[in-house]
Amino acid sequence: MSQPLQAIRGMNDILPADAELWEQFEEQVRDWLRAYGYRPIRMPMVEPTPLFARAIGAVTDIVEKEMYSFEDALNGEKLTLRPEGTASCVRAVLQHNMLYDGPKRLWYMGPMFRHERPQKGRYRQFHQVGIEALGLPGPDIDAEQIIMCARLWDDLGLTGIRLELNSLGQPEERAQHRAELVSYLEANADKLDEDSRRRLHTNPLRILDTKNPHMQELVDGAPKLLDFLGAESLAHFNGVQTLLKDAGIHFRINPRLVRGLDYYNLTVFEWITDQLGAQGTVCAGGRYDGLVAQLGGKPAPACGFAMGVERLLALWRDQGNQYEADAPEVYVVHQGEAAQRHAFKAAERLRDAGFAVHLHCGGGSFKSQMKRADGSGAALAAIIGDDEAAANQVTLKPLRDEGEQRRVAFDELADTVGAWLYEWDDEDGDL
Ligand code: ATP
Ligand code: MG
Repeated sequence: MSQPLQAIRGMNDILPADAELWEQFEEQVRDWLRAYGYRPIRMPMVEPTPLFARAIGAVTDIVEKEMYSFEDALNGEKLTLRPEGTASCVRAVLQHNMLYDGPKRLWYMGPMFRHERPQKGRYRQFHQVGIEALGLPGPDIDAEQIIMCARLWDDLGLTGIRLELNSLGQPEERAQHRAELVSYLEANADKLDEDSRRRLHTNPLRILDTKNPHMQELVDGAPKLLDFLGAESLAHFNGVQTLLKDAGIHFRINPRLVRGLDYYNLTVFEWITDQLGAQGTVCAGGRYDGLVAQLGGKPAPACGFAMGVERLLALWRDQGNQYEADAPEVYVVHQGEAAQRHAFKAAERLRDAGFAVHLHCGGGSFKSQMKRADGSGAALAAIIGDDEAAANQVTLKPLRDEGEQRRVAFDELADTVGAWLYEWDDEDGDL
């Protein structure tokens, strides 16, 4: 036999126990988004390559080296697996003229693709929940989006996620700062590492974000973008901070927070944990007022963020959240042909009444079937043999709580199961 095939490196299967945790997370996320008035949007996973070069920036890490791009074999069109959602979302908003009747709050969730070196918290297919608010210029929406995040951490019971905040100002302010930064770095060219020398004239702001410990002193002494902000940019930044303080949200201003995508201006932020090792940023975003026009639309302000689902779930799990698999309420065992047909009816009748039912398939002795029933975590076994089938009855046996097994008429099955489960819930104080 040949070796079984493997998934692509950095692209993971999410097996049932994990997938159930994901679903639980997604339910919380949907409730949370509804509470802030965000509506869902679903974009294709493949887009024309130029969309990303234009939106994210040609000299960013993502576009330079992380994109899965290929040519459509049939017509030669250049295509890319989306590395993020903002570009697609804005494209969709423009394509469908969605801003014609005012601002929009949108969210999406799904896989993103980046050709990075796989490691803990960094994958080639990973998932994001992203939100975008389009058409709103003020610091209020920036602040609300950040406050939103804090609420989600709270909803999920997550602790130890800190907020870093910065303002990138406007393009003219950045240009002034950039000129001074480049002359400062040129004057210190001997202290730059190879990566930084390469970026010096393409993306010097990113040099400030270096992880190289030998460059920290150099970077600390560099001209700070915040010192180049004009009155309007400062007022916007202060507006965000005031609303965050009102909401009791702690933050640190990090003048070196620049983000890896070119489209940001004014507010940028990251939520970071120290509990996941090197890949500690669980959520990142900010304002990108220039993007709509850059993609050919009538200028419109916008801001949003994306969170990394794998990283958040790793943290959720590390902080003790275990998903308990949803056990069926009833496990139906049966033996003999007449009993099997009766069992199918009983199972469907119970499902009609809203119960989760696992009908045993695959035969086997009653003993082995009862073992399966026990293992399933079901509260009750419904046992059907030839006797029950002939008498149009079902035997019910409690599997986890006290109680005598009892035989009931088929028509009373659902009510009896309901009464039994209700009684136990009551005793457990669950109601
Ligand atoms: P990083 O600095 O970790 O590479 P980034 O700045 O490239 O992050 P964004 O493009 O802002 O990340 O994406 C938002 C979030 O998506 C990140 O904060 C992170 O939680 C998650 N994320 C990004 N890339 C990956 C990846 N390759 N694997 C898993 N999660 C990722
Ligand atoms: Mg990255």
